[in-house]
Amino acid sequence: MKPIIGINCDYEDDTKPHSFVYRDYVDAILMAGGIPFLLPLVKNRDDMECLLERMDGLLLTGGDDVPPSRYGEERREKTHCVHADKDVFDNLLLQLALERKKPILALCYGAQLVNVAYGGSLIQDVPSEAKTAITHKPAKGEKCSHSVSIEKNTILYKIIGADVLNTNSAHHQAVKKLGKGLKATARTSDGIIEAFECEGHPFLVAVQWHPERLTFDTRHAALFKALVDTSSVGRALPANTQLSGKIITGQICPTPRL
Ligand code: MN
Repeated sequence: MKPIIGINCDYEDDTKPHSFVYRDYVDAILMAGGIPFLLPLVKNRDDMECLLERMDGLLLTGGDDVPPSRYGEERREKTHCVHADKDVFDNLLLQLALERKKPILALCYGAQLVNVAYGGSLIQDVPSEAKTAITHKPAKGEKCSHSVSIEKNTILYKIIGADVLNTNSAHHQAVKKLGKGLKATARTSDGIIEAFECEGHPFLVAVQWHPERLTFDTRHAALFKALVDTSSVGRALPANTQLSGKIITGQICPTPRL
């Protein structure tokens, strides 16, 4: 049976509030042999646990910014937070997925969400706060790419099979302090962390770029293949598998609004 991969939706709170996800994410999972399963905002914890039971893996998508209050900072001018309901949903979703050792691929905002959940912090605006000659968020329509250097002996290296990879880049925030239990696995030459994983977790791979837009390149498509393949295997993982990563549960799980 093909594994079911949950995909957290983005949320637009306009005159017709709606959950949505860009098709690239869905197609990337389909291409990799998984069944995409879109997750709208659900506020009831029991309902979310039911959703989790039916998912074999989780894809955390890109989006707006993590509220800086989660890492003890004031929101700065250029920070545009995700909707408060999405913030609560995403954090609870992540916590429940981690408790169940579900394989997780986290992209862009998804990666930042994971870092903050593990007690890390973020550079709120790379162009204005970090000294770098690299354009991490090019102007609209401009195809700016940079390369990343990948650490050997990491899950990411096993997936990509190379120590240098060209990527796209569409982020204005980045990891400042890496969360406890997380390990940087790729950086740009300016030192910005472009990928990390959780030591001891069977499959928690986070990247700062958008591989879902690059699936014509087998190395980027391999990230989704690895998620789907690990999710197939994951069904057999014993429920009491011990993880060495330390999750800061106080921060990751605010009281859900029921
Ligand atoms: Mn970048």
